[in-house]
Amino acid sequence: MPAFNEAPGIGGAIEVIAAILRECGATYEIIVVDDGSHDGTFEKVKAVSRRYSTVRGICLSRNFGKESAILAGLQAARGEAIITIDADLQHPPELIPEMIRRWRAGARVIHAVKRDRSGDGLWTRARAALVNKALTWFGGIDMHNASDFKLLDRVAVDAVVFDLRERHRFYRGLAQWVGYEQETILFDVAARESGAGKWSFLALFNLGVTAIVSFTTAPLRIVTVLGMTTLCFAAAVAADTLWSVYQRHAVSGFATLEITILLMGSFIMISLGIVGEYIAKIYEESKARPSFLESARCGFETKKPFREDAVIATEQTFKQLV
Ligand code: UDP
Ligand code: MG
Repeated sequence: MPAFNEAPGIGGAIEVIAAILRECGATYEIIVVDDGSHDGTFEKVKAVSRRYSTVRGICLSRNFGKESAILAGLQAARGEAIITIDADLQHPPELIPEMIRRWRAGARVIHAVKRDRSGDGLWTRARAALVNKALTWFGGIDMHNASDFKLLDRVAVDAVVFDLRERHRFYRGLAQWVGYEQETILFDVAARESGAGKWSFLALFNLGVTAIVSFTTAPLRIVTVLGMTTLCFAAAVAADTLWSVYQRHAVSGFATLEITILLMGSFIMISLGIVGEYIAKIYEESKARPSFLESARCGFETKKPFREDAVIATEQTFKQLV
C-alpha cells in the first residue's frame, strides 16, 4: 500500500484489509510504504505493526511519488502473489477474495478496472481519460479506466522488479506489458474515506508524460509526419508563389505568409518539446539514480512473516531480506 499523508485513515484501512485476508484463509503480510508523509503516517504504521506481526512499514526518505512507493513495496514483498492497493480504501478490498480465487485458478496478473468513476470529480475524470486515451492510441496498451489495484503472481513481480530495469516506471503499463495469463475485474471507485486526493496538477502531468514517454515512441513519429505534411504544404505555397511571379502579379498573400510562419513556428516548438521529453528521459535513465531511498523500516524483524507453510515457499527471498 503506497501511502502519502494518510495518517487519519491508514489504521482503519489496514484493519479492513487484514480482516478480509484472514477470511480468505491466506497467509499474508501487509506492507505500507510511507512515501515521505509529514503527518505521522509512519508512526501510525509502526504502532499497528507492533500489534500485528503481519504488518510492516517502509519509510521513504522523502516523497518520491506513488510509482516509486509501489516499487518499494514490490521489492520488499515476499509473497507468492502480491496485491497493490491504495491506502485510502478507494480500491474496494472486498475484491481481494475474488482476485485470490482467480489467482488460485491460474491467472497470473489480475487488473481491477474502474467500472464507474462517479466517485471522482469531473476534472479528475477528464484528465484520466485524456492520458489513458493517449496511451491506448500511442502505446497499444489498454489503459481504459485502469487502476493500480492489481494482483501479480511472483513471476510477474520478479519480471517487473528485476527484469525491467527502467527507473521511471509506469506500473499500470508494465503490469500489462509483462504478459502471462491476464484477467480483469470491474470495480466501482468508492469515495475517499478520509483526507484528500494527493495529486497536484503537475504530479499528474508528470505521470502522464512518463506514462507516454516510457511506453511508446509514437509521438516522435508524429513529429516526422507533421514535418512531411508541412513540407507538402510548403511545396504548394511555393508553387503558387512562383506561379504569381511568372504571371507578373503583384506579391499578395501577406496573411498566408503570416499564418505559415506562425504555424511552422508552433510545429517546430512542439516537435522540439516532444524530442526534448525523450532526451530528458534518456538523461534521467542514464544517471541511473535509484527510484527511491528508504529511511526506516518496521515490522520486518519478525522472523515468521507468514504461517509456517508459506515461509517454506518463500525461504529464498525471506533469507535475503532478514
Ligand atoms: N500516494 C503516494 N505518493 C504520492 C501520492 C499518492 O504514495 O505522491 C498514494 C496515496 O497515499 C494513495 C494512493 O497513492 O494511497 C492514491 O493517491 P490518491 O488517493 O491521492 O489519488 P487518486 O485516488 O486520485 O488516484
Ligand atoms: Mg485515492
